[in-house]
Amino acid sequence: MLLDVQDLRVRFGSFTAVDGLSFRVDEGEVSDRIAVMYLGEVVEVAEAESLYQAPAHPYTQALLSAVPEIDDGSDAPRRERIVLTGDVPSPIDRPSGCSFHPRCPVARERCRTERPALREVAGRTVACHHPSIAGN
Ligand code: SF4
Repeated sequence: MLLDVQDLRVRFGSFTAVDGLSFRVDEGEVSDRIAVMYLGEVVEVAEAESLYQAPAHPYTQALLSAVPEIDDGSDAPRRERIVLTGDVPSPIDRPSGCSFHPRCPVARERCRTERPALREVAGRTVACHHPSIAGN
């Protein structure tokens, strides 16, 4: 994980890497870019505000859905809670294909056999065969 972090610093400048439930966005306290990791691998990198408003990777979506929202009395839509099932696999005995596929709510056949590469999709950097991109 340390190597991932050092590599991202070189590539993106200011950023935060998060793995698991340590993810939190506080205005004024976040880096410009956030890298979300699953089993020690980066699955999504984006600007903090963009990531928070429209996460593309299913794991990022599940993480953000667990962040408590304050009822401010507005009619703003609330994030639907995504509860992941299954256990977190061992990093030394990863599932085939996408490491997240046994727990992913939108996994398809390709996910079980083909590991998704980290790639640029509509301004996002995401490792997913079926990312959720706003407007698509
Ligand atoms: S590649 Fe497939 S299993 Fe992995 S996160 Fe994307 S949709 Fe889910």
